[in-house]
Amino acid sequence: MTDLVTTDVVVIGGGVAGLWLNYRLHRAGYSTILLEKDSLGGGQTIRSQGIIHGGTKYALNGALTTAANAIADMPARWRACLEGQGDVDLSSARILSEHHFMWSKAQLASKLTTFFASKAVRGRIESLKENERPEAFRDRRFKGTLYALNELVLDVPSVVSALAEPFHDGIYQLDCSQPGVIDFDGERIRGININGKRRSVRIEAQCYVLTAGEGNEALLHGSGLPGPAMQRRPLHMVMVKHDYPHPIFAHCIGTGSKPLLTITSHPAEDGKFVWYLGGNLAETGVELAGKEQVQKAQELVAELLPWVDLGQAQWASFFINRAEPRQSNLLRPDNAFLARTANTLVCWPTKLALSPALSDEVLEDLQKQGITPKAHTDYSLLAGLPHPKVSLPVWEQMFS
Ligand SMILES: Cc1cc2nc3c(=O)[nH]c(=O)nc-3n(C[C@H](O)[C@H](O)[C@H](O)COP(=O)(O)OP(=O)(O)OC[C@H]3O[C@@H](n4cnc5c(N)ncnc54)[C@H](O)[C@@H]3O)c2cc1C
Repeated sequence: MTDLVTTDVVVIGGGVAGLWLNYRLHRAGYSTILLEKDSLGGGQTIRSQGIIHGGTKYALNGALTTAANAIADMPARWRACLEGQGDVDLSSARILSEHHFMWSKAQLASKLTTFFASKAVRGRIESLKENERPEAFRDRRFKGTLYALNELVLDVPSVVSALAEPFHDGIYQLDCSQPGVIDFDGERIRGININGKRRSVRIEAQCYVLTAGEGNEALLHGSGLPGPAMQRRPLHMVMVKHDYPHPIFAHCIGTGSKPLLTITSHPAEDGKFVWYLGGNLAETGVELAGKEQVQKAQELVAELLPWVDLGQAQWASFFINRAEPRQSNLLRPDNAFLARTANTLVCWPTKLALSPALSDEVLEDLQKQGITPKAHTDYSLLAGLPHPKVSLPVWEQMFS
């Protein structure tokens, strides 16, 4: 026997993109079902550094690029949500730092100093006097310049919980890449089949949205759906758990167009801090084995922050891919991405920070297609399916 469940939109993938979209769709009156393979946020989202960028790191060549402009509004959009006044209510999410900072290892080139003081970046970058600096940069051995950026850093698991909790009843655990789950007739998705031992359920929707991150590729290939090509840009991230008491949220910039090192600080369950290290260290370390990458990170931290003693720290590293629509030369895409084929949308936010922009685009697309809220979803028919949990932070998984 097969029960039929109808809904307006099926969202496949419960990272930040799918969860944010699910929330916006509900607010707009749509009924939805979100299907997540493992744990909520457990892909790239939980491994992100949680920086809500305003684009400054894309302007290190001294000019505002397309990428810098595309993302400029995002900190304000997220701040409104954190105050409970935005598109989604993130008032229960935790802010780790009201600002991300940027420091230069040595004196900056005068072109960049002039640019950072210019009208073009007013409100985005502010140079700090010594007494305004966060504790970790008050040591007399610090010789560079420190800027506060109009960017904030969030505790990502708490963001994931805030997005998921209100809609818990409509979020289920299911790997949609299993054979036969997506029923695609060569033109459009006709339904999602869930075969149980005694009962089977079929979900039918007006629209299906793929927000499965790196999993989008397998979903497209496995079901035969045509869709955009994906690229993976790998990172080799490093984590260090230590007793140094002052958190750092900052990019260290050198002479290149990318930060040498990006540090965010995250409280672990045992009360210690974990510094999460990305930036150029992670981009260029993808050819290195774990041990070599940790050694490189240790040397870099000692060089850039010589006054910091991390003592008996625990170090670890891991590889993770950023999944995005394919660009020429594997470049970083500037914007959130969406492509429609018949009744299916394939999406990548390309940045955690751009999730609001991606949801805007999906809602606009639904309107254009004349897809309006219609269904009253009977969730009781899906009662046999488990609900996925929110993923543990990556440092709790690796330093357990
Ligand atoms: C190390 C790192 C640091 C980053 N730092 C930042 C940052 O500081 N700021 C920022 O703005 N961006 C950052 N990013 C980018 C950001 O993390 C991603 O753009 C964003 O999290 C992507 O979200 P997503 O929901 O598309 O994908 P994901 O978070 O990967 O979620 C996809 C979900 O789909 C599920 N899924 C996969 N296959 C299936 C299937 N077959 N069926 C059902 N579900 C499926 C997965 O289990 C997963 O939960 C960072 C990325 C990385 C890798």
